[in-house]
Amino acid sequence: MQSLRQSRARTPAKVKSPAKRSAADHAAAAGALPQWTTAEIEEAFRRFKAARPEPKGELRHINPFTLLVAVVLSAQATDAGVNKATPALFAAADTPEKMAALGEERLQDLIKTIGLFRTKAKNLIALSKKIVHEHGGEVPRTREALEALPGVGRKTANVVLNVAFGEATIAVDTHIFRVGNRTGMAAGKTPLEVETKLDRVVPAKYKRHAHHWLILHGRYVCLARRPLCEKCLIADLCKWPGKTVVNQRSSQH
Ligand code: SF4
Repeated sequence: MQSLRQSRARTPAKVKSPAKRSAADHAAAAGALPQWTTAEIEEAFRRFKAARPEPKGELRHINPFTLLVAVVLSAQATDAGVNKATPALFAAADTPEKMAALGEERLQDLIKTIGLFRTKAKNLIALSKKIVHEHGGEVPRTREALEALPGVGRKTANVVLNVAFGEATIAVDTHIFRVGNRTGMAAGKTPLEVETKLDRVVPAKYKRHAHHWLILHGRYVCLARRPLCEKCLIADLCKWPGKTVVNQRSSQH
């Protein structure tokens, strides 16, 4: 087997044809790729950290409550779309008390550019009331209490625990799900399976930021349709059969 040093002395990969990429994604999703070694995983996160020591999420917020609201709004919507609506929303309501007082109709009006805005408005009003009545107006800090809020699932709870409260949770969204499966780093049929595997394999010292590194990697490099393997920091480590490894030289990592 090649040493890590040898494998890194390759140029980053290009990708195969769309049909082969699609077949490669199916193979990866079926868990057919070889498992990463501990050294490879350590190396991947070392590079992510070197490239971006303090990665941040892209949802704008000003306190734990507005973060929770932004994450609820981001379900099946882009962060950019949510960020367009939230400045006016947070100017009107940046606490659960104010959000509950806005009322559903006014809230709908403020978030109407975001998909599923009616359901989200309903959930946000109910969630705000619950935080006021059951948690003294503070966003709860436990997964159980967060997941008991209307419109809040495991992913949202994980983002809030990580970003607002500094816990080393990994929220598996569509990007992390794809990157975990496609690279072979953490294959799984459900987001929970991918989360559990990542939780097991990501070294403790990288876990706090793993979530953001993987999301940003999926959003800007390992794109769904046409991953930019030729620009990828971890191309030599990735097990995806859809890339074309071009031998020899250059490791700028
Ligand atoms: S992780 Fe990198 S090399 Fe692997 S598929 Fe994604 S972009 Fe390509």
